[in-house]
Amino acid sequence: MILNISTKFELMLPAQPCVLCGGMSHEGMWCAPCDEASPYLNEPHCPVCSLPSPTREICGKCLKHPPLFTRTACVFTYTFPLDKLILAMKYGGQLTLAEAFAKKMAKRIDRHTLPDYVIPMPLHPTRLRERGFNQSLLLASTIARQLGIVLLPDSCQRIRNTPSQSSLPWKERNKNVRNAFRCDIDLSGKHVALVDDVLTTGASLNALAAAARQKGAEEISTWVIARTLPHKDKAF
Ligand SMILES: [Zn+2]
Ligand SMILES: [Zn+2]
Repeated sequence: MILNISTKFELMLPAQPCVLCGGMSHEGMWCAPCDEASPYLNEPHCPVCSLPSPTREICGKCLKHPPLFTRTACVFTYTFPLDKLILAMKYGGQLTLAEAFAKKMAKRIDRHTLPDYVIPMPLHPTRLRERGFNQSLLLASTIARQLGIVLLPDSCQRIRNTPSQSSLPWKERNKNVRNAFRCDIDLSGKHVALVDDVLTTGASLNALAAAARQKGAEEISTWVIARTLPHKDKAF
C-alpha cells in the first residue's frame, strides 16, 4: 500500500497523553474517540452569528440588530468538555492547545472569502501583563500563517481596561465594551477577519468591528473557536 505524505506524517507522530481522557493519542492533543465526542458545531446555523438556524438562513436576532460583522467561522459549541480546554488554554497556560484549535479553525474558513488582514482580539496591556500572552494572537498568528494572510498583531488596541465580559450579565456587555477599542491603521476598502476564542453575545467582537469600521474596513468576518448557545432562561 502506498501512503500519502500526510498519512505517513501522522503515523510518525509520537504518542502523547490525550488532554481529555489521558489515553495515549497519536492524533495530536486529544485522541480520536474524544475528538468524535467533542461538541462540533455541525447543526444548521446562522451564517452571521452561528446561532442555530434550521434553514441556515440569517437568524431573527441578526435581522433585527445586524452586527457589524457579516459572517462567522466557528468550530465548536461552547459546552463540555471543550469549555474546559479553552479555560486550560487561557488560564492554565496550555498554549499548545491554541495551535490545535487554530488548525481546526483554519479548516472551517471559507477559502473563497479570505480577508486581506487577520486581527486578534486585543487584550488591555494590564491584562496582558497578568496573563503573559494573548490567546487570540496565538490563534490568529497560526491561522494567518496556515492560510498565507497578513497578520496585524498590534494595529488595534484595547484602550479601556474593562471588567471581563464573562463576569457580567449578558445585557450589560454591550455597554461594558463600547468604545473600548481603537485601530491605528488605515483599513480603507479592506476585508478583515477578527479572531477571538469564544463568541457569546458578540459585544466585544462588535465593538472591535466598530473600531475597524471607523478606519474604513469594508467587510468584517469573525473567526472563533466556539459559540455559546443561549440558555432558555437567558436572553441575548
Ligand atoms: Zn481522549
Ligand atoms: Zn444570527
